[in-house]
Amino acid sequence: MVIEAAYADGTGVANALRMSQVQWHELQRNYRVGDLQMPCCSAPAVPKVSANGYPFFAHLGGACTTSEESQWHLAAKILVRSVLEDLGCRASVEMPGSGDAGRWQADVWGERNGVRLAVEIQRSYQSLRDYRKRQGRYSDEGVKSLWLLGQERYSTLAKSMGKERLRTEFGGKFPPGGHFGPCLPDLPVAMLELEPVPTIKGAGFFTATLPDLLEAVLSNRFLCIDGLWCINNLDSMSSAAKRSHELAAAKRVAANT
Ligand SMILES: [Zn+2]
Repeated sequence: MVIEAAYADGTGVANALRMSQVQWHELQRNYRVGDLQMPCCSAPAVPKVSANGYPFFAHLGGACTTSEESQWHLAAKILVRSVLEDLGCRASVEMPGSGDAGRWQADVWGERNGVRLAVEIQRSYQSLRDYRKRQGRYSDEGVKSLWLLGQERYSTLAKSMGKERLRTEFGGKFPPGGHFGPCLPDLPVAMLELEPVPTIKGAGFFTATLPDLLEAVLSNRFLCIDGLWCINNLDSMSSAAKRSHELAAAKRVAANT
């Protein structure tokens, strides 16, 4: 879901997050083909409203010359940058920097009251070792960071992190409870889905809006507790887990009667 398009005459951008419903409808009525350009390929952008009522820009005729992967990555970067700006940050994309542990180019960079945040958006494969290496460059310099992963990438990383915890913390044996949170405290991570609407999820029934998640990261409230990343505490996730188990149990009973 692309939320920002640039005016072809160089006068700035139209950003769906910053426009009222009335302003959006006005744009839909008054734009001319070619007025606005898609960020991915400069094709004409058409302002639309999704079935769930969210405003977005689409390619004229649906065609894009860039890959689906890079379209997703770019749409996610623009969204995160816009939300950070709305939270009072000075924000930019593709921000280069360096520290003792090496150089980086943050997908999105935000600064607010002396707090520096790097958000990395990842949908292609990367090994756990590389996540930690890149993560270390930020933490060594006191830069906060957050990894936002596509669904498939999140599942793969959760498995690797779980194996790592099992090996290093549980001596290779499953704890008595049978299951445990897979996340590592040195790797702040959540799953980002863009369609049909931007959604944040994570292991252990974690859900949040993107603004709530980013605000929590900026204000030190995105925490890793018992192998699960959460905002403030595990309370709402524990109740969601309980509800889900009860529902599953009720379904089993219903199936057996
Ligand atoms: Zn495009």
